[in-house]
Amino acid sequence: MRLNNKDRELIAAATDAIKQRYRYDWQEVGAALRTRAGKIFTGVNLDAYLGRMAVCAEAVALGHAVVDLGDSGIDTIVAVRHPAPEDDDQTIAVVSPCGACRELIFDYDPKARVIVPNGQSPSSVPIADLLPNKYTRGPER
Ligand SMILES: [Zn+2]
Repeated sequence: MRLNNKDRELIAAATDAIKQRYRYDWQEVGAALRTRAGKIFTGVNLDAYLGRMAVCAEAVALGHAVVDLGDSGIDTIVAVRHPAPEDDDQTIAVVSPCGACRELIFDYDPKARVIVPNGQSPSSVPIADLLPNKYTRGPER
């Protein structure tokens, strides 16, 4: 699906978040989500010396939303990556959510839309399209 102005506003919010908090090797990804109530929350990834303690930007943004509003659902979410200083391309660009974040987004809103890279201009897709045969604890119904 093509992006609308609200989607572009969300990309701008994620970009602002990582521009403000970029730290080489520690904070390189920004995320922004719009809740079903229409409020925008942002986050940046938290890298860690112990890799298993690292937290993705999408999870930090969701944590912000849950603390502030409770679980109010995810209308749309996006993550962007800030390049490292040595990278040739210094564009802050939309990145796809990792597998764990796909699970997390689906858990909090199975109808969420995710903005993903798509050639020259990003597009949005339902989270279910990014997570076929999602893990379940019991038999499928
Ligand atoms: Zn992730």
